Amino acid sequence: MPTLNPDTHACIGAGICTNTAPSVFELNDNGLVRLRTVDVDPADVEAVDAAIAICPAQALAWAQG
Ligand code: SF4
Repeated sequence: MPTLNPDTHACIGAGICTNTAPSVFELNDNGLVRLRTVDVDPADVEAVDAAIAICPAQALAWAQG
């Protein structure tokens, strides 16, 4: 399964990813992105791609390798 590598230092807590792919992303107590799951269900890949594309902080990326 594909995995994600969010950059919590870059995240500005805009919450767009949590609205776009709510089964994958949530906000932690500090209002920054946190993964709900390490392994992304293939059914959620399209929504995650959309969240990556629109994150204003470019804080989201698929893990490499
Ligand atoms: S859309 Fe980007 S900046 Fe906003 S909460 Fe998600 S990772 Fe953080």
